Amino acid sequence: MAKIKAGVLGATGAVGQRFIEGLKSHPWFELTSLAASERSAGKKYREAAKWRLESELPDDIAEMTVVNVDPREVDADIVFSALPAADAMSVEPAFAAAGCAVASNTSSYRMVEDVPLLIPECNHEHLDIIKVQREKRGWEGFLTTNPNCTTIMFTLPLKPLMKFGIESVHVASMQAVSGAGYEGVPSMAILGNVIPYIGGEEEKVETEPQKILGHFDGERIINADFTISASCHRVPVMDGHTEAIWVKMRDNPTPEEVRQAMLDFDPGLGELPTSPKKALIVKDEPDRPQPRLDRMRGNGMSISVGRIRSGIRFICIGHNTVRGAAGASILNAELLVKKGLL
Ligand code: NAP
Repeated sequence: MAKIKAGVLGATGAVGQRFIEGLKSHPWFELTSLAASERSAGKKYREAAKWRLESELPDDIAEMTVVNVDPREVDADIVFSALPAADAMSVEPAFAAAGCAVASNTSSYRMVEDVPLLIPECNHEHLDIIKVQREKRGWEGFLTTNPNCTTIMFTLPLKPLMKFGIESVHVASMQAVSGAGYEGVPSMAILGNVIPYIGGEEEKVETEPQKILGHFDGERIINADFTISASCHRVPVMDGHTEAIWVKMRDNPTPEEVRQAMLDFDPGLGELPTSPKKALIVKDEPDRPQPRLDRMRGNGMSISVGRIRSGIRFICIGHNTVRGAAGASILNAELLVKKGLL
């Protein structure tokens, strides 16, 4: 099939660079537009962006001219958005109205009623709400979102536990510095330290999973009925969020039943270019998972779970800028193609 034209909004930033990395040789998408602020527009990408990833920036991309985040300047059928949330608020609907599919990584529209908040392995059926969204808003295009990075890491392992009747969840996160962007946390603040506050994070983590694990009744999404209490912390780790989870369930399963449910988890997605062979990896070693050793499992798209103990308690980790950001949006876009929406 002919490749689908893809643009990146916020292409020069930390997540934007991960988008470029994930799209530069994608079998279904072709990078046709890179957009950023007016500070960057008009410059060659290599001048506008400081490339900070370990993979090489291809010459043809480095030579592309950055444009403004304006639908009249961006040539694409789908745009991947990695804009600051305040800018995304007006820019993303403008692209949807102009007929583009928008796969957003920002928080602006995640909790809006007619916008799907997707983890393809958890709730691909929520995509059906796009019909409602288009009818309500009169858009030719549409808007999809992926969750906050911390939300993704523990919501995926909760999915196979839904059958046990989840009643409440407690989360303590240990979040990597890359989650705040390159200039987000000064090295003087984080080296040899832990910062026990990440603005706005606990509110997202305490509300997004219920929408993702809820069900679509044909008109709206009914949230799953459990509570979440979160405490979020920044730690001196470059990449990879680690989370300690406590789950109370109606059926009171044993750790072995929980482990088996995670091992048996089959999201039923079939193969998509970015989906890992195993969305959930169960580690049995007592000192795993660890961010440095396990964040790149499944090309950074698998979530690793371990230390499943009575309570039920477990640890999970995943790559925050891959599975928790750009990779999540790209997987959503592949799902759109598979479902015939692109
Ligand atoms: P970042 O490194 O600061 O990059 C921001 C990008 O947005 C840059 O390309 C910047 O372009 C562009 N931009 C800034 N102001 C703009 C404006 N007024 N108009 C148009 N473009 C503008 O941020 P990031 O860490 O990549 O995060 C991007 C988004 O993803 C945020 O909403 C963030 O919350 C979300 N997110 C981040 C992570 C993570 O792990 N980092 C995870 C999940 C979600 P210039 O270079 O031209 O300024």
